[in-house]
Amino acid sequence: MPLKPRITAWVGPMYSEKTEEAKRQWRVATAIPGLEVVYLKPKLDTRYGDPRIVRSHADPDDFDPKIPVTLVEKAGDVWEVGKQADVLILDEGQMLPPSIARVLLRLYMERGVRVNYFGLDLTWQGRYWATTSEVITLPETKVFKEKGLCALCHGNSRWSQKLRNGIPVHIFDPQATTFEVGEQELYRALCWDCWFKTTPGAQQALDQGLIGSVDPETYWGEPPK
Ligand SMILES: [Zn+2]
Repeated sequence: MPLKPRITAWVGPMYSEKTEEAKRQWRVATAIPGLEVVYLKPKLDTRYGDPRIVRSHADPDDFDPKIPVTLVEKAGDVWEVGKQADVLILDEGQMLPPSIARVLLRLYMERGVRVNYFGLDLTWQGRYWATTSEVITLPETKVFKEKGLCALCHGNSRWSQKLRNGIPVHIFDPQATTFEVGEQELYRALCWDCWFKTTPGAQQALDQGLIGSVDPETYWGEPPK
C-alpha cells in the first residue's frame, strides 16, 4: 500500500539536530519493506570532506556511512531521483537553488512522494535563506521550527551569529558574505535576545526592515551545464 504523501520541513539554526531528525526519518522509512527511500544532499556540502557521508553540525564525528547518499546540485537532479522514490529526504536544502521548491511540490502532487526537507532558515544576518523560504511557503508544507541551545544564556536558539577572531561580525560588514562553505566553526547559535544585543548592526537591520526578509543573495541560479 502506498504511503500517504506529504511535505514536511524541519528548519532551524545549526546545532538544532536537524540531521539527527533526517537520519531518524531514514530509519523509520527504511524499516518498511518495499519502500524506495532516497537521501539527497547538495554536492556543495563539503564541510566535512566527502559530502556523501551523513554528518551533523551537532556532532561531526557521529557520521553514518550506512546511509547511501545521492548528491544533487539542481532542480532537475532532484526530480530525476525523486520521481522514482516513495520517500525523499533532503538535507542541507538551503544550499540548493530555490527552484527545487517547485520540484518538491510536483513530486508530492504528481508522484505522491513523501517529501522531507531539512535546512537552515535564518542567515547570520537574520534574513531568510531563499530556498528554505520557498519550501516552507508551499501550500502543503507542514513546518517544524527546530531549536538548539543559546551559546550565551542556554535558552532556545533560533539565530546564528558569525564570529571573526571571536568577535561578532557587523551585519553590514562589506567583507562578510552570506555563506561560506566549510567555516561552520565560525558561527554560534543564539536566542533572539542574545543575538539582538550582541550582533553589531542588528538594530539598524531591524529599522531597515531587513530582518526576517529573504536575502536576495541566496537566490542561487541553476549551476552551469
Ligand atoms: Zn540567549
